[in-house]
Amino acid sequence: MSVALFLLLSILSVGAQEKTQVIAHRGYWKTEGSAQNSLASLQKAAEARVFGSEFDVHLTADNKLVVFHDDEVESIKIQENKYKAIKSVRLTNGEKIPTLKQYLKKGKKLKNVELIFELKSHATPEREDEAARRSVKLVERMGLADRTTYIAFSRYAAEALHRYAPEAEVYYLNGDIAPKELKEMGMAGLDYHYKVIQQHPEWVKEAHELGLKVNVWTVNDPAIMEEMKTLGVDYLTTDHPTEALEVMAE
Ligand code: MG
Repeated sequence: MSVALFLLLSILSVGAQEKTQVIAHRGYWKTEGSAQNSLASLQKAAEARVFGSEFDVHLTADNKLVVFHDDEVESIKIQENKYKAIKSVRLTNGEKIPTLKQYLKKGKKLKNVELIFELKSHATPEREDEAARRSVKLVERMGLADRTTYIAFSRYAAEALHRYAPEAEVYYLNGDIAPKELKEMGMAGLDYHYKVIQQHPEWVKEAHELGLKVNVWTVNDPAIMEEMKTLGVDYLTTDHPTEALEVMAE
């Protein structure tokens, strides 16, 4: 290969790596027939051709993993109750709250979307450990280990996920740990609120130098999408995935 061609290919491959990938926050839910964390939101995210689709997981008191954002639904605290207490609750699009198994089954059919699995914080380290252990086991049993990335606000939960799935990428969400320490924790990178990155723009370069990646949430303003793209973040999580795809393609 000529030196010129080699240089050209190198430049193109660096360019490709640097493109900011879009992740739909709680699925693509701001569209007809969808709802946050619904099976439809995952399907619509895949149809929108985003890189990944994020969703939230809780462990019920009787050890059922379910996909829902808030701690409670219709005044029922999810983690303190049995699955049967929330089983018939309807999402705004008419679907029932998906179990993790149902959700992953849907994800398995949709081959072109990465699953960005947020394990919610739980009341005690023991419950977080149990939730992490069961989550990893189910993902692996369903053959989705290589398409699943884990994220968590709780440092304990993030470290538990890394312990149970040492090959998987785990990102920490809480914004209070610098890249160097995340690397020592075994994290794949940081997944921080965009305001944290605005305050610490140097963390993007620091992370990349350590071989870590940077994700920012939840960016819905096109001007901030542009700003994050220019900073060179690897992933951008948004409630407006189609708009973000346009900004990133420009
Ligand atoms: Mg989430």
